[in-house]
Amino acid sequence: WQHLHQIDPQLAEAIEREETRQKKNIELIASENFVSPAVMEATGTVLTNKYAEGYPGKRYYGGCEHVDVIESIAIERAKTLFGADHANVQPHSGANANLGVYFACLNPGDTVLGMNLAHGGHLTHGSPVNLSGKYYNFVSYGVEEHNGMINYEEVARLARESRPKLIVAGASAYPRTLDFERFKAIADEVDALFMVDMAHIAGLVATGQHPSPIPYADFVTTTTHKTLRGPRGGLILCKEEWKAKIDKAIFPGLQGGPLMHIIAAKAVAFLEAMDPSFREYQQQIIKNASTLANSLTERGFNLVSGGTDNHLMLLDLRNKDLTGKEAEHRLDSVGITVNKNAIPFDPQSPFVTSGIRIGTPAATSRGMNEEAMVKIAEAIDHCLSDSNEASQQKAQDIVNELCQKFPLYETI
Ligand code: PLP
Repeated sequence: WQHLHQIDPQLAEAIEREETRQKKNIELIASENFVSPAVMEATGTVLTNKYAEGYPGKRYYGGCEHVDVIESIAIERAKTLFGADHANVQPHSGANANLGVYFACLNPGDTVLGMNLAHGGHLTHGSPVNLSGKYYNFVSYGVEEHNGMINYEEVARLARESRPKLIVAGASAYPRTLDFERFKAIADEVDALFMVDMAHIAGLVATGQHPSPIPYADFVTTTTHKTLRGPRGGLILCKEEWKAKIDKAIFPGLQGGPLMHIIAAKAVAFLEAMDPSFREYQQQIIKNASTLANSLTERGFNLVSGGTDNHLMLLDLRNKDLTGKEAEHRLDSVGITVNKNAIPFDPQSPFVTSGIRIGTPAATSRGMNEEAMVKIAEAIDHCLSDSNEASQQKAQDIVNELCQKFPLYETI
């Protein structure tokens, strides 16, 4: 930090303020987490200096003997962790991992069946504003209005009707277990390829807390920075037969030089994920989400699908006479960070929304347990159910107490 403060104090101060924000707030954004100090260290190494276009043993630059070792370790660890035939650790992000798969197996204009963004899917699953939706003919499935769940009969009907070349499963805001076996049966019936984007649940999958897509999917993509608790980045796992096409799609197809410092940090995160303590951590994420969901329900909050099986939940705020935007703002002011999120069949625009998405991975990384979740539910209730100053203060007091009791970067 000493150099940064000297060379660029303006930036150093902004980073310090961000660090303080992370320490003094309760992070409930479902897609965020706190990396370990070891992962953080790897991201700040001399590896940021190195160009290494290509793959281990087949580079377009000299001096790659050490980064070859690093990338090979990352690949082998990813394969072992998830039981996959092949791993490409180079995607700069989850979005790039998804585009890499599309580029490897589709032609522009091909039909793909994916989950509707407005029902919990991701932008890269065919949103009309995303390259995926512009270059490919995406058909969308969603959830049912009465129970907030995917209706697999409806997915099968849409597949028979649209005859997609690829079916995409996976979501950014779906609180229930995904039935990969069922998706695969549908894909087989219509002779489609099958991709799973497990970005949100990768840590749960790695430790057996969610069924693995690996036995069923031709391609599995993920981010490395959500439940998996690695650096920001992407990863593609695939069957042996797709290895060459996937590697070509990422480089030279989609990206130039890989981010070797990030690949090193991914390797560290994969190693950490193999430790028994990581399984306990993932189990605690689920226990915490379940406790938080129950406590919020007891306090009169409505949860889409009535609860959660995984690390996240979606609050439908219509009975509280609040929009997602208002709730996000109000929670922010008492030190609770969430994101506004459309609920299925949302009457509000995506900038306003009727819901918020809440997840427990980051708070669990601080060591927060079920008891803390009950308190967080109380704080959320104080903050959202009553706008008066006394209630807001009560919420802030709970946040302060929990942040002191579970200091960041003392338990990871
Ligand atoms: N896929 C899913 C299911 C996601 O939730 C996200 C990010 O939120 C992504 C892909 C994209 O990841 P990134 O932001 O790294 O591009």
